[in-house]
Parts: sequence; C-alpha cells; structure tokens
Amino acid sequence: MINTIAKQTGAAFKLRKGDRLKVIDPQGEQVSDMVLFNADDTREKLSSGKTLDFEETILITKGHHLWSNRSRKMMEILEDTNGRNDFLLAPCSPETFQIMYNNPDYHPSCFENLYTNLSKFDIAPDDVPTAFNIFMNVQFAPDGTLSVDPPQSKAGDYVLLEAKMDLIVALTACSAEQSNNYTFKPIQYEIISER
Ligand SMILES: [Zn+2]
Repeated sequence: MINTIAKQTGAAFKLRKGDRLKVIDPQGEQVSDMVLFNADDTREKLSSGKTLDFEETILITKGHHLWSNRSRKMMEILEDTNGRNDFLLAPCSPETFQIMYNNPDYHPSCFENLYTNLSKFDIAPDDVPTAFNIFMNVQFAPDGTLSVDPPQSKAGDYVLLEAKMDLIVALTACSAEQSNNYTFKPIQYEIISER
C-alpha cells in the first residue's frame, strides 16, 4: 500500500528488521527528511556523524548504510534512482525561518512535523537528530560554503531502504521554500514486508 504524506506534514511508524521502505517523490523536486530510532531503546538513533565517518563520504546513496550513535547499522540503501541526498543539514525548524529567512511569523517545519508525529512513541523534541534529507541537493564550494539548490529528483524517483533492526521511522514532506524549489508537494512511502 502506498501512503501519502500531504505537503508540509509528516508521519511516523514502525518497521521490523528486514522490512523495506520505499520513499517516493511523486511530482519531483520534493525533499523528505527521515529520522530513525531503535524501536527497543529510543536512546539509540540515527547519526549523521557516524554515517559520514564509516561510509567515508558526505554523499550517501545506494550501497551505503545509515548508522546509529552506537555505531550499528540501522538501514541499508538498496536503490536510489535520483542519487542525491543530504546528511549535513538539520531539519528545518521554526528558528530556521526566523534566523535564515527573516520570517518572524509561524511557518510549518520538518522539525515540528517530526516531533509531533514521534510524540506517540514518547520521543521528545530534543531527541530528534540530524535527519537524512532524501532528495535534498546541498552543494559545497571548495572553500566550504554550502548552498541549498533545487532537488534533482524527477517525478517517480525513489529510495529503497532495508531495516537492519526494528525501527521507529519518521518522515516528512519538507516545508522549506529553498529546499524544494519554492513549491510544496507531497511525499509517498510504501512499507514492503516479507512476512
Ligand atoms: Zn524541511
């Protein structure tokens, strides 16, 4: 069954070890932030630092694993039809829009959509780690300057991941204008279970 995350919202759910998760960009140019927690002990969670360390690259794609803060494999990326994802930047938050975009008014954000959906698993806002930003196109200059460019994903592009432990997963359809080429679109996901 394909589930749809409406634009500027999120979802959270459990995956069993061995389940596969397909994250789809149905219209193209739409980022999805994903965070992971060990379903049996949520103090173990996705770690950007450990993943970049063990995979020895900042461009995480097919063939790589997503690692936890306890240096264990949480997911394996089996397929990635777009091939560009970001694991440097934190989920967009209310403060992102205040500090970077000079917007003092309420603005939906991945951070809010992650922690509100994760609250049913007793996961607090301070527990949300740096997200794996699927389809996000962050470029870096030789001097280290970062830029957030339009996603390169086309309609129907997807990432297929396999759970390496029982997981709690949260996913969003990102709410930051610049990350999504200034239009907000849905994200779809499918849980593929062998059982
Ligand atoms: Zn976002």
